[in-house]
Amino acid sequence: MSRKKIVAGNWKMNKHWSEALILLHQIINKRDKDKHVLLFPPAYFLRQARMMIEGQSRIRIGAQNCASTENGAYTGELSASMLKSVGVSHVLVGHSERRAKFGEDNNVLFEKLNRVLEQGLTPVFCFGEQKEIRTSGSHISFAIEQLKETVFKIDQETFSKLILAYEPVWAIGTGLTASPVEAQEMHQAIREAIVDRYNDDTAQSCTILYGGSCKPSNAAELFACPDVDGGLIGGASLKANDFCSIINEI
Ligand code: PEP
Repeated sequence: MSRKKIVAGNWKMNKHWSEALILLHQIINKRDKDKHVLLFPPAYFLRQARMMIEGQSRIRIGAQNCASTENGAYTGELSASMLKSVGVSHVLVGHSERRAKFGEDNNVLFEKLNRVLEQGLTPVFCFGEQKEIRTSGSHISFAIEQLKETVFKIDQETFSKLILAYEPVWAIGTGLTASPVEAQEMHQAIREAIVDRYNDDTAQSCTILYGGSCKPSNAAELFACPDVDGGLIGGASLKANDFCSIINEI
């Protein structure tokens, strides 16, 4: 079964207005327009980004975060329905920086998943192990437990709308990358866990991205792994040439 391959760019808290305009212009113009691209700019730029991609094929805009609750007295938060109202189609849920720096645990992430799904938006669910867990050899069971406490609580039909992003925490923003063997081992194990929880069709059609210091020099070997369906890119998504080189590899 063929799966959708995607390269996603997470800009995190980078790029002011004029820089963001330039970066998005460059990506729109330089990218291979046959490839599926997802962009996660900072929240202040979402509406503008959505307008700039109007009429462009195979490029979508997502938010980096959303509230676990719907609208109300939650100062500083943005609800999934607000994101929908500015034309966002995807939302990152569970990024390791949200987990580590903002204390988001699997319970909160499950709530966020539900808010995103209620609005008909697509969650890109991030998960992965810390260095010490990999060193102890329990990385696969740890990652699958993260899925069991969140996305695997969802019924099969709804789960089939999700995108997963395996992101080993020790590889995010560190310059350390999982080797293709390490990435494939984990992605295959995730797919087997999806078979166990749902069924083979669901597992074979689920897009599972790899994230963690993916760059032009290592994207090809990572994306060549049979169970890796593209990448979630942080640092290298901030330079149009690097990002577009990575897009070329899916
Ligand atoms: C990320 O933040 O999701 C990420 C993968 O970052 P980087 O590519 O910089 O490691």
